[in-house]
Amino acid sequence: MNTELVNVADIFGENVFNETVMQERLPKKIYKNLKKTIEEGKELDLETADVIAHEMKEWAIEKGATHYTHWFQPLTGVTAEKHDSFISAPLPSGKVLMSFSGKELIKGEPDASSFPSGGLRATFEARGYTAWDCTSPAFVRKDAAGATLCIPTAFCSYKGEALDQKTPLLRSMEAVGAQSLRLLRLFGNTTSKKVTPSVGPEQEYFLVDAEKFKQRKDLIYTGRTLFGAMPPKGQELDDHYFGTIRQRIASFMKDVNEELWKVGVSSKTQHNEVAPAQHELAPIYAEANIAVDHNQLIMQTLKRVASQHGMKCLLHEKPFAGVNGSGKHNNWSLTTDDGINMLEPGKTPHENTQFLLVLTCILKAVNKHADLLRESAADPGNDHRLGANEAPPAIISVFLGEQLEDVLEQLISTGEATHSLKGGTLETGVKTLPDLAKDATDRNRTSPFAFTGNKFEFRMVGSRDSVAAPNVVLNTIVAEAFADVCNILEKADDFDKAVHDLIKEYAIENQRIVFNGDGYSEAWVEEAARRGLPNIRSMVEAIPAMTTEKAVNLFERFNVFTKAELESRAEIQYESYAKAINIEARTMIDMTSKQIIPAIMGYTKTLADTVISVKTAGADASVQSELLAEVSALLVETRNALNVLIQVTEEAAAKEEGAVQANYYYTDVVPAMESLRAPVDKLEMIVDKDVWPMPSYGDLIFEV
Ligand code: ADP
Ligand code: MG
Repeated sequence: MNTELVNVADIFGENVFNETVMQERLPKKIYKNLKKTIEEGKELDLETADVIAHEMKEWAIEKGATHYTHWFQPLTGVTAEKHDSFISAPLPSGKVLMSFSGKELIKGEPDASSFPSGGLRATFEARGYTAWDCTSPAFVRKDAAGATLCIPTAFCSYKGEALDQKTPLLRSMEAVGAQSLRLLRLFGNTTSKKVTPSVGPEQEYFLVDAEKFKQRKDLIYTGRTLFGAMPPKGQELDDHYFGTIRQRIASFMKDVNEELWKVGVSSKTQHNEVAPAQHELAPIYAEANIAVDHNQLIMQTLKRVASQHGMKCLLHEKPFAGVNGSGKHNNWSLTTDDGINMLEPGKTPHENTQFLLVLTCILKAVNKHADLLRESAADPGNDHRLGANEAPPAIISVFLGEQLEDVLEQLISTGEATHSLKGGTLETGVKTLPDLAKDATDRNRTSPFAFTGNKFEFRMVGSRDSVAAPNVVLNTIVAEAFADVCNILEKADDFDKAVHDLIKEYAIENQRIVFNGDGYSEAWVEEAARRGLPNIRSMVEAIPAMTTEKAVNLFERFNVFTKAELESRAEIQYESYAKAINIEARTMIDMTSKQIIPAIMGYTKTLADTVISVKTAGADASVQSELLAEVSALLVETRNALNVLIQVTEEAAAKEEGAVQANYYYTDVVPAMESLRAPVDKLEMIVDKDVWPMPSYGDLIFEV
């Protein structure tokens, strides 16, 4: 156990090629050029890149690095990398030099044929290229492979089509940044130069013991349990026992934090979650692209460190049925380069007006594109969470809190809001809008999209998913709403009146998306249907939102996605759903036929032998007989359900790839899996524990 005490300030960012390092190492002119690129998006010339590459390499070698990698996020949801060593061809003397050129820094060419492209990149032009995202700093990662210089990059096809999560994210950041600046200028801001979306994703995860994990094929192959009954007495373990668990977890968290701090991830809060073996880690928010990179680093670090501690980290959205699942709360706001948060309600009426316009624009954006937001959180694991009375419902709505809701109601009913709830009646002059105090009280935990004081929290995202897609959608839909108001306001004769009218209009038109009540209740499902809000229950039903005319218009207008890119992404989504369910179904088939049925057959034999012996001895064997009958009946049900699952899984594989196949997995294979699980879970409850061929939920959740 690592009990060494560390000084966070000393180790924080020690393996990052950050501001300080660049300022120290780069010639002034080069540093200035790079800053220009980072801040203003100017293209980097090769000469500058050469100098940076050289310094970066020297720095990385001092940190022990032997290799570099363009670290990118293909559409598989995880990161990918191809390692190259710094070594150049041997010299006549037999020695080697360590080299790294500007070209190698800026651009890489991984053989990308194995990454999903949804038909965008025919295999004969398998090569894509990666381009350095210099707004996310390079870092040296140390693990079993030694030390590697990781260069955060975007990944495109040769024609420039995005093949990754990063490219559209950067495009969407530019879009929302530009439109935000337009809006700020209208309100008299002349000083801010740049607006960037800030993102703070809270990561939930489970920890289980590695030895027990290894005994469960479902966890190994799918990341979740496909069978398992809840232990009736699970929660009654004594405190002493939990005390020891906490030591093990605490030691793990200490290592996770240290590893993250070294690579510049500001891991900040950690706490235990609702479920027994569940935890959460949140970093301090950062610029959206950095936050996305850091979240990937967090997920990788959690996994690696867990293994070092004899545990396994489960990032799946629903590792255990009947136990709370895991999500990722995506906190989002818009920040200027001079530190203004556009989602801060503000203290003066002037600021309030701007805030209320921003707020109502966001309401409009979310109302118009609820289907896209829902889709951005769709992954196979999240189908088990959303709408399942634990995480947000599958219906998108916005929670504003009492005070803001009241302000909106006043606007809607009278066209004027003259007071705010906590502040009493306020005179705010021309704007006829109240002063707003930051309403920090977020009492509503059931809302998928909640205003929490000075940011929105999108709570639908799955724990295993990249936060790139949700932020691409958020950035772009807000860019659209801002662009639309700016188009009107830039031409308005009476600016104040025009703003006021727009706020009122948007508040009225988008009322239906605001909901402050209990999102888990059945009443809300009915109410939402009356309001005409989409209730998209599954991933396959969510995917079509990506390619509607509305979506294509939106994304093409802001150069975030072309129609072809959207279609390819939808295709990849269908494929990844089909693949995920196929693996789950086949794992279930394997576990049932090779582990569960043999174990139950053995058990029924023991029971039958007992019945005979007891009868022979002349005693009443009715209890044993009943149990035998019950187990045998469930065994028959299991076998029949297994046969059905085998059949539909084969049929699924033969379907046309894409939407047709994915839908078949959803409508036929998933129910067949549920029908198989039911009798097996019943069997687990009644057979002897030592007969059961794998660790139980109790073993996994309560004995970490
Ligand atoms: P809670 O669990 O109460 O929601 P946490 O502290 O666990 O709070 O997480 C809040 C997350 O929101 C953190 O990542 C934090 O850095 C982030 N955050 C705070 N302010 C902002 C902001 N203005 N924009 C984006 N994210 C923010
Ligand atoms: Mg939160």
